[in-house]
Amino acid sequence: FAINMEQFQLNEELGKGNYGTVKKVLHKPTKVAMAMKEIRLELDDAKLNAIIMELDILHRAVAPEIVEFYGAFFIESCVYYCMEYMDAGSLDKLHGAGVPEDVLGRIAGSMVRGLKFLKDELQIIHRDVKPTNVLVNKKGEIKLCDFGVSGQLEKSLAKTNIGCQSYMAPERIKGESQNNLGTYTVSSDVWSLGLSMIEIGLGQYPYPPETYSNVFAQLTAIVHGDPPELPEEKYSEEARDWVRQCLAKKPEDRASYADLLDHPFLKRDRARKDVDMVGWVRIALEHRAKLAEVAQA
Ligand code: ADP
Repeated sequence: FAINMEQFQLNEELGKGNYGTVKKVLHKPTKVAMAMKEIRLELDDAKLNAIIMELDILHRAVAPEIVEFYGAFFIESCVYYCMEYMDAGSLDKLHGAGVPEDVLGRIAGSMVRGLKFLKDELQIIHRDVKPTNVLVNKKGEIKLCDFGVSGQLEKSLAKTNIGCQSYMAPERIKGESQNNLGTYTVSSDVWSLGLSMIEIGLGQYPYPPETYSNVFAQLTAIVHGDPPELPEEKYSEEARDWVRQCLAKKPEDRASYADLLDHPFLKRDRARKDVDMVGWVRIALEHRAKLAEVAQA
């Protein structure tokens, strides 16, 4: 069935991204709380229609590690994209000073399974793996969103793509990202996955803008410097090695998703029954609320 704006009650704003605003909404016919993302695009109706049609593939992206897609429509030059509401928000605001190793394992496992599902079942490469695109709910579930399914949408967004935190793999920064067929390879996502794990483990983006005088210096460090590592004091050699397998400088040296799932770090994660994700989310949300209070004062 098709959804349209009349069916929604618009509630509070959940966040602002590079491309638009996300609001909490209620889908009145089904009483389902959803998140609605508004993306402003200066395009003609034919192109907007093409985007809506390309997004349709998302109805097949149903897996425990993927944020559910409910539908999309456009009004004037805005695309409205409706998805599952994730009540703890994105991972970038939950990691605090770095998550414990057992939680890191659960997050890593979920992300790899989500990325592997997209690739194996839908032939989709995510292309934008980073903590803001990993959503969490109070049940302790970790799900991916914002993956590249619409060529037309990607093309329209590319122009505004600026940001001071790059999760791009060295080969993509150097401009070798595309092979002769013009397609990205999955190993670039593996780098971004590794970098996201470092951020969640350290509690901060590993190439902080304060350290580099400009974006060029920061990108040079990513391309020519040693890849970052998880801190030795806090994480086991298994966890640190897992991240190392993601952050090989040469794409051909990076692990595949199957290798990453087979690694002792994630085998141990699957064997554990006692990882308290619900408790971790609760504490992370309290911490986030305190930070927001301090910022207000
Ligand atoms: P970006 O463009 O930086 O990837 P988005 O526009 O996707 O950011 O989202 C902006 C913010 O809105 C996120 O950081 C998150 O806090 C919130 N958000 C996005 N989608 C959802 C969702 N499905 N449920 C709850 N919050 C969401």
